[in-house]
Amino acid sequence: AAKKAGRATWKCYSHKMTDDATRYLLLSSALREAVKNRDLQVVFQPKYDVESLDLVGFEALSRWHSPDFGTVSPDEFITMAENSALIVDLDYAVLETVCAQVHSWQQASIAVPKIAVNVSGRTLQQAGFFQQVQSILQRNHVDGHNLELELTETALLPQPEKQVSILDQVRALGLTISIDDFGTGYSSLSYLQRLPVSTLKIDASFVREISINDDADAIAEAIIAMARALGMGIVAEGVENELQARFLRERGPMSVQGFLYSKAVNAHTATEMLS
Ligand code: C2E
Ligand code: MG
Ligand code: MG
Ligand code: MG
Repeated sequence: AAKKAGRATWKCYSHKMTDDATRYLLLSSALREAVKNRDLQVVFQPKYDVESLDLVGFEALSRWHSPDFGTVSPDEFITMAENSALIVDLDYAVLETVCAQVHSWQQASIAVPKIAVNVSGRTLQQAGFFQQVQSILQRNHVDGHNLELELTETALLPQPEKQVSILDQVRALGLTISIDDFGTGYSSLSYLQRLPVSTLKIDASFVREISINDDADAIAEAIIAMARALGMGIVAEGVENELQARFLRERGPMSVQGFLYSKAVNAHTATEMLS
């Protein structure tokens, strides 16, 4: 009996210790399979003009519904992919899906606004990034003007000079570049000025606190002023209520994105919104 109890105790302890590690291993191998088999979905979150509420674009976002793990949040699987080279394949797969969608809209004579795709630092830094983007566009018969790349400040930091030249090449294809989650990194005004970036996206953590926290109001205003000073466009992310919308409207022009307007929708609904 003593042996039995001892073993049971050991078993529990062991399970608790290895549960997280096991889940991580199983999940990352399932993710690898899903990326390889193209089992990830792409959804589209609309962006609107804050004043007219015209639809001005979409951001493509990855979704993973795993048969074994259920719906896994991007915060979990994107972080996991970013810990390995898998993020590179994932980002290219999203770009490919988006380009195929843009082409099919154009075939149906639907006017397509700019579609933004998130690109991780590792993907941007990968040798051949520019050539990959170019060939994905070409084989899907899509013009670069239809696309925007969203990069975070940290994605741009490691080798600014090298990345500026890659971004210049990408921009020569017609793509625009925006800085995602702006305000959470360490970009200085002088650094920003050197980047070939057309839009700053105010991070949702500041937008969430608008009208609640004076510091958030001040930060949002500073980012808006900074973008204006540099001739960049502004997108406010994560707009959830009318108070935030009013604050932003009064400081426009800018674009807005958030649950107040629409969550990310599937391609079918996006098509209806465009038609
Ligand atoms: P992000 O690029 O900053 O995307 C915005 C996130 O905010 C999305 O979360 C979106 O669903 C969410 N969101 C939009 N409006 C609201 C709102 O009003 N309130 C709140 N609370 N959230 C809102 P999601 O889809 O879970 O993606 C999380 C992050 O994962 C993204 O942040 C992006 O950094 C990353 N990600 C998603 N898809 C991809 C991808 O294909 N490639 C890469 N590299 N990263 C991706
Ligand atoms: Mg983004
Ligand atoms: Mg963001
Ligand atoms: Mg983010």
